[in-house]
Amino acid sequence: MDIYSGYISRLIAELAVLPGIGSKSAQRLAFHIINMPKEQVTKLAEAMTQARENIRYCGVCCTLTDRDVCPVCSNPARNKKQIMVVENPRDMTAYEKTGKYEGVYHVLHGAINPSLGIGPSQIRLKELIQRLQEDVDEVIIATNSSIEGETTAMYISKLIKPTGIKVTRIASGVPVGGELEYIDEVTLSRALDARVEL
Ligand code: ZN
Repeated sequence: MDIYSGYISRLIAELAVLPGIGSKSAQRLAFHIINMPKEQVTKLAEAMTQARENIRYCGVCCTLTDRDVCPVCSNPARNKKQIMVVENPRDMTAYEKTGKYEGVYHVLHGAINPSLGIGPSQIRLKELIQRLQEDVDEVIIATNSSIEGETTAMYISKLIKPTGIKVTRIASGVPVGGELEYIDEVTLSRALDARVEL
């Protein structure tokens, strides 16, 4: 029996689909939303719809953006010969916040994870290899220091090495299993400065 009205049950079911939201949290959020002022609920719903409709992948680095080419890739001051490979747009944001990096990025949208069936073709690796046809001096691998991140780093390094392009890995001042986005800016800058050639 549906103890709530159909509308509430539907809202709870939609919220429960989100990562990290169990059925209890979904119920809590649903009742919170129902008690919010109507205008605020409209704003929230609009923000979600508009973000989903207008955000796409940058045609160069694959990050999420509302333009064909993201602001970093279209900035003439950025060094296009230096490409930093990260797992997701949040990692890119973390490096941008340091203000120390002048190159460009490549966002993989994941890492190789055989146990989850995620192979090289499931991440944006083909796009990276295509970019290397252009004049590139260095590929800095800044995937996380988790097993998946390291596996991905090794895979990319083996793939690029034969081309003669310099491949480096950010230093492991970064705690093992630590996700880049949670690490402070100073540590990130240091990890970048102390990168080692693979
Ligand atoms: Zn871009």
